[in-house]
Amino acid sequence: MGDSVNPFESFQEQVDEAAEYIDIDEGMLDRLKNPERILETNLSVEMDDGSIEVFRAYRSQFNGDRGPYKGGIRYHPNVSRDEVKALSGWMAYKTATAGIPLGGGKGGIVIDPSEYSESELERITRAFATELTPLIGEDSDIPAPDVNTGQREMNWIKDTYETLENTTEPGVITGKDISSGGSEGRVEATGRSTVIAAREAFDYLDKDIHRATVAVQGYGNAGWISAKLVEEMGATVVAVSDSSGGIYNEDGFDAVDAKIHKRETGSVTGFAGADEEITNEELLQLDVDLLIPAALENAITEEVAQGVQADVISEAANGPITPKGDDVLAEKDVLIVPDILANAGGVTVSYFEWVQNRQRFYWDEERVNNELEDIIVNQFDTLVDAYEEHGLPSMRVAAYVVAIQRVVDAAEQADVWP
Ligand code: GLU
Repeated sequence: MGDSVNPFESFQEQVDEAAEYIDIDEGMLDRLKNPERILETNLSVEMDDGSIEVFRAYRSQFNGDRGPYKGGIRYHPNVSRDEVKALSGWMAYKTATAGIPLGGGKGGIVIDPSEYSESELERITRAFATELTPLIGEDSDIPAPDVNTGQREMNWIKDTYETLENTTEPGVITGKDISSGGSEGRVEATGRSTVIAAREAFDYLDKDIHRATVAVQGYGNAGWISAKLVEEMGATVVAVSDSSGGIYNEDGFDAVDAKIHKRETGSVTGFAGADEEITNEELLQLDVDLLIPAALENAITEEVAQGVQADVISEAANGPITPKGDDVLAEKDVLIVPDILANAGGVTVSYFEWVQNRQRFYWDEERVNNELEDIIVNQFDTLVDAYEEHGLPSMRVAAYVVAIQRVVDAAEQADVWP
């Protein structure tokens, strides 16, 4: 049997595995595995040449027991209903793992944004924002950036919503530009939590991250910031990749220079600081101390996992390891810091942004980074306690056990009505 590559099936398997360690009835388990509701919409948008193109888009509101639905919006040709469902579920357990008072949601448009002009992307985004307006709000559902979206798209969504609702409500969306109510530290937050979590994992193993060699798969926002910050900790980045391929230098290279090269040429490949070109699969199987998957789901399948040699994996991407890949890595004693803690920095600083928006009172970057660090370190310790006390098979199971219990506690308090 090959790997299950449907991310929603992977997500449900993860919840089922953790549920075995919790006293939970079947109805509640069903609730914990399925979204509350999904918007599926077809956006008809005028292109620059006057033609009309239709784009399928989704928003899944997975669970709101602990607070407003929260999660990003991605633009990618592989977006599907099941992918959005899985990503929204991971958000629900991510906010619970981080212990922040938010639920889980996710959205996406089926599109390759590199094929459209900026004005077309603005019309597509505003069309989606128009469909989303009845569903979102600072107390109901709060979108954010994800793969191929950033401050620009968030600003368009905020502006469309505020215009249609005749209000000012910056907390309706996070990941905005600072001038539109964004938070200091938000752009770096996902990479920052990924490396803080990795550092805690190294400490736990009595190893020193300062001397670690690191490979990073994916060089978008989460990947490249992780590479930069881990390098600032003293580690050596020996390999990075993007969808065009990877680069490797046994002695390491400058992560920022590699990013500049990508910005100028569109890819990390061809970067002068590296002496070898490698594939994404070769990168994932390098003999490094720390591996950071920062691209998409299903990067580490059962087959890829057989060749993984890293001691620690900190998941910057959502769902980068399939359940079968996880089983192989467990046998090899690889310590995996799961996505729902490792990359929770993004949504945690989104939470800080929302708090600042509601108070109309803004923090400096130091405060943001310190508060983020406290949350990731404390929650890492909570997961380690659960992992050790209950003899759980992995940190991932520990994260789900802790997170599911927090959602169940909130759901039981609220009671299921009617
Ligand atoms: N898209 C990010 C994630 O997957 C951030 C979500 C948010 O800030 O709401 O966690």
